[in-house]
Amino acid sequence: MDMPVIDHRSPEFAELGRAVLEGSQTIFKTSGPVIIFPSSGTGAWEAAIVNTLSPGDKVLMVETGHFATLWEQMAARWGIEVDFMPGDWRRGVDPAAIEQKLAQDKSHTIKAVMVVHNETSTGATSRIGEVRAALDRTKHPALLMVDTISSLGSVDYRHDEWKVDVSVSCSQKGFMLPPGLGFNAISQKARDAAKTNKMPRSYWDWEEMLKPNAQGFFPYTPATNLLYGLREAIPTLLEEGLDQVFTRHKRLAAATRAAVNHWGLEVLCQEPKDYSPVLTAVVMPPGYDADKFRKIVAERYNMSLGTGLAKLAGKVFRIGHLGECNELTLLGALTGVEMGLSAAGIPHRTGGVDAAMELLEERGEDNVSKHPASGR
Ligand code: PLP
Repeated sequence: MDMPVIDHRSPEFAELGRAVLEGSQTIFKTSGPVIIFPSSGTGAWEAAIVNTLSPGDKVLMVETGHFATLWEQMAARWGIEVDFMPGDWRRGVDPAAIEQKLAQDKSHTIKAVMVVHNETSTGATSRIGEVRAALDRTKHPALLMVDTISSLGSVDYRHDEWKVDVSVSCSQKGFMLPPGLGFNAISQKARDAAKTNKMPRSYWDWEEMLKPNAQGFFPYTPATNLLYGLREAIPTLLEEGLDQVFTRHKRLAAATRAAVNHWGLEVLCQEPKDYSPVLTAVVMPPGYDADKFRKIVAERYNMSLGTGLAKLAGKVFRIGHLGECNELTLLGALTGVEMGLSAAGIPHRTGGVDAAMELLEERGEDNVSKHPASGR
């Protein structure tokens, strides 16, 4: 990315544009268009809403955690009537509960089902394939919109196969890039909705993007240096193999949970089927402040653990194990946590790192990490 910015109306740029637009399709697993905005993930959330919905529309969302709550608040600000199914922030969505809501909605007033795939605030991953099956079983025509912000490129995701209408993502998680790119992968049904919806938009307008995108260009100045990075990130993922990337994330997550369980601490996510391959949120024992512990770890070992967000503030810390992460980087992080627990005087059983190592040593054919870094 540390290269001169090129003229974004030049033939050289068109090659870059085409490479990243087509390459992104392979990561979303779609043959349809992927829109790339110069934006954060929040911008891409907004683009999904303003291109498809109209003020007064009803949508179904599930309170999986802080990010689902923020997306819900954004939808409400746009005049959307949100049926926000309450949740305890300790699991992914319940596809059966969604199915029941859709089955009750005989007159099809629900215009969209909006779900966060990997809830970064809790470490719970929702089963989007099962949500799709729920929509199909009820023959409900609602759009399916999915936040893949912290799952894309780290957790199995299939935009076309799961008939997702808008997949929202961004650059700073599974793509392993700095922040600054927002993505919308869109279905034909979503584009059709955009023809008649009543939400005002300009910067986020998909069709304005798609016109110049056809030649590899953008309607306004793109984040060229981030696109250089994306041009490398996509083949990096594909060279390792998406399935191998997903397996590596699951193994590292399992090793993290082995350490947490051994320490005698609690994993926040209570539904094993929803354990996140991306991050693990750890519950602090009662009477101990997670942020004080995080501060000790940061000061002593220069390691930044994720904070508890919103109602989880002070109650949990989060260990990220996504992207450019391998056995040894994970074990370094777990060692930092274990040393930090001792330094902070938090009751725990030592030997969590050994438990993680033991799990990582069980290397069957299926779970051998093919990541080039794992052989370093
Ligand atoms: N959704 C999820 C699941 C996230 O994890 C985040 C950020 O971490 C967002 C949305 C918001 O993205 P951004 O901070 O890039 O606007």
